[in-house]
Amino acid sequence: MSAEPDGPEDRLRRFATIWSRALFPVTATSITRPDFERLLLPLARQLRAALDERVFVAAGSEAVGESLVAAHCTEPEALSRTLDVVDAYLVLYCGADGGTGEREELRARCSRIQHAVAAGFARALRERTLIEQEAIARAALEARGTVAEALHASEARFRAVFHGAAVGIGIADLDGTVLEANDALIRMFGGLEQHLRGRNMAEWTHPDDSPHVWKLYEELVRGDREHYRVEKAFYRPDGTVLWTNLTVSLLRDADGAPQYQLALMEDTTERRLLNLRLRYEATHDALTGLPNRTLFFERLEKALAAGEGARFGLCYLDLDGFKTVNDSLGHAAGDRLLVEVADRLQACATAPGEMVARLGGDEFVALTTGPDTKREVDDLVGRIMNALATPIRVEGRELTVRGSIGVVEGPAADRGAAEVLRSADITMYRAKHAGGNRYELADPEADARAITRHGLTTALPVALERGEFFIEYQPLVHLGDGSVRGAEALVRWLHPQHGVISPDRFIPLAEHTGLIVPLGRWVLEQSVRQARAWEARTGAEQAVSPLRVNVNLSPCQLTHPGLVSDTVEILERAGLAPDSLCLEVTESALIGADDDLLKPLRRLAEMGVDIALDDFGTGYSNLANLRRLPVSILKLDRAFTQGMQHFPADPVDLKIIEGIVSLAHSLDLAVTVEGVETGAQADQLRELGCDTAQGWYYARPGPPDRLHELALADTR
Ligand code: C2E
Ligand code: MG
Ligand code: MG
Repeated sequence: MSAEPDGPEDRLRRFATIWSRALFPVTATSITRPDFERLLLPLARQLRAALDERVFVAAGSEAVGESLVAAHCTEPEALSRTLDVVDAYLVLYCGADGGTGEREELRARCSRIQHAVAAGFARALRERTLIEQEAIARAALEARGTVAEALHASEARFRAVFHGAAVGIGIADLDGTVLEANDALIRMFGGLEQHLRGRNMAEWTHPDDSPHVWKLYEELVRGDREHYRVEKAFYRPDGTVLWTNLTVSLLRDADGAPQYQLALMEDTTERRLLNLRLRYEATHDALTGLPNRTLFFERLEKALAAGEGARFGLCYLDLDGFKTVNDSLGHAAGDRLLVEVADRLQACATAPGEMVARLGGDEFVALTTGPDTKREVDDLVGRIMNALATPIRVEGRELTVRGSIGVVEGPAADRGAAEVLRSADITMYRAKHAGGNRYELADPEADARAITRHGLTTALPVALERGEFFIEYQPLVHLGDGSVRGAEALVRWLHPQHGVISPDRFIPLAEHTGLIVPLGRWVLEQSVRQARAWEARTGAEQAVSPLRVNVNLSPCQLTHPGLVSDTVEILERAGLAPDSLCLEVTESALIGADDDLLKPLRRLAEMGVDIALDDFGTGYSNLANLRRLPVSILKLDRAFTQGMQHFPADPVDLKIIEGIVSLAHSLDLAVTVEGVETGAQADQLRELGCDTAQGWYYARPGPPDRLHELALADTR
């Protein structure tokens, strides 16, 4: 740790870190992220100089744009991300902390820097494309003889398929010279025939090629292999990258001697970019650039699964009195404070095996997994307390920052991530109750007392017997015509002392204790019966189509052997058709699911029960993998709709939603959106192609009879 954690050099480095995190996923480079960051550091310094100069000179920032192209950051996305980062963080990290007037000047300067970077970037990209095009035209001219010969040889029927196909098709001879390319392939490579014909396959190496790709290629042209299938990247002539699923087959002549190679290509670029972007956004906190809860959970789970003898140490920090800062100085000041705290924490955990994350709000965690966690976590907590000791300067004021820390240290085995975090959380509260500005060590007995103090865990089983649970239903509305199509069943607990408790509080406990299985069965039974009752009433009124019901399933219910038979029995007993039921499974429960786990869901799906992927977009699932799951509905998480609260909505967010919707539709999945709170959101989501919506704009969760009234109302 440097003597002064928040010196200008540290802040510059922090800026380079954020920049590299944003840019790296869209850069076609073979270097590692840390190396990439080192590459950006001098560029960041140039930008800071441009911000500091008394008179603005565009050349320095233009040179930054040119350097990006030289470093293979040639995707349009790379530029837009760079501009986003400069816009959001340059002044924050590299600007002097002056008065309001000065800050406004810095903001204006920052816009000019962005323009100059974009101009430099565009110029460099254009130059690069021209040079390449010239080389290709020369090559095409040389290859003309070969092409004429091949055209003659092809058959009419094959041609029709060849030209009409949506997938890219190319034919090359055994030396690798491209003889033919269909329109789809030409389009993939930028639209000009001479970019393909006459060129040699060997020219299309890409830094991301595994050696294995070219070995397969050699085997094929030698005649030792009939075909191969790989995922491969290509540079397009304009320098952008095309990702494909590539299948190459060997064509033999009448005597069986190898003659041509036939390549089929499917463009997967968009899907890949979307995946990377989703992955990044799903795992990082936008404000501080720190890993977020999701990524932290992944790391913690890994640390806990590290095997025998492994230990871990964790500090759970909550700032004392942060709300006061927010309330009195405003959210912008609160944000600056959080960014500063994040920086200081980051500087405390730089050793291998250490990481810092922001869990949300003013809660941060630091994890260590070194060889001697007892000592390390002790040092770590000391460094954190130390780092917070110096007041933080925000908007001309010196703010004293204090924090309460819960520390958990111990052997990794036998503990789940959620349990560890809960224990740290409880310990942190103990520190807070003892006056704050201190740390406490976790103690299993105190943990147990804390949980029983809430009394929830032990009261849960009795609650089911005493009938303290009830279900509310929230309508699912068709975006096209506004009709109510069904409802999601949401369970609540009417606790004799605490009143109505939300599922977010007790479902995790029920999962932990196993009570979720009987509780889940009860919810399913009630909901199915309710759906049957709606059906009977609508049957009488003949005005509306029957209402369907959505029921949530916890991950532990998925692995329970009785899932399929219980569901079948419940449906039969109530007399409800399977296609009136939809089971919602969270995305995270299915990440990495193997076939055994999917089997019961698949059985249910085959019977006609719909399966919905709930909270989609909060975890990270491989979009391409969706095809493998027996799912027919995607429920986009509330986070997406929340992002649309401001008008106009962020165009990048809209693009992401649009991308997901079109991908979902191409896989035959319907898209439901959650958390629709305004009419404007509903309109926008309808335009983006979403099918169904749910949210307060239509109705809050409520009693079953109200739902029936709503369904009738919209037919009038
Ligand atoms: P979920 O399945 O994603 O349910 C949607 C949650 O969003 C519900 O919270 C609902 O009340 C809330 N919501 C609906 N519209 C809006 C809106 O416009 N704005 C906002 N801000 N929120 C909205 P709830 O009822 O607290 O349920 C929370 C979670 O608890 C559910 O999330 C689900 O994962 C779980 N859950 C509820 N019932 C059950 C159950 O019977 N079994 C299991 N395993 N989990 C359940
Ligand atoms: Mg749900
Ligand atoms: Mg949900």
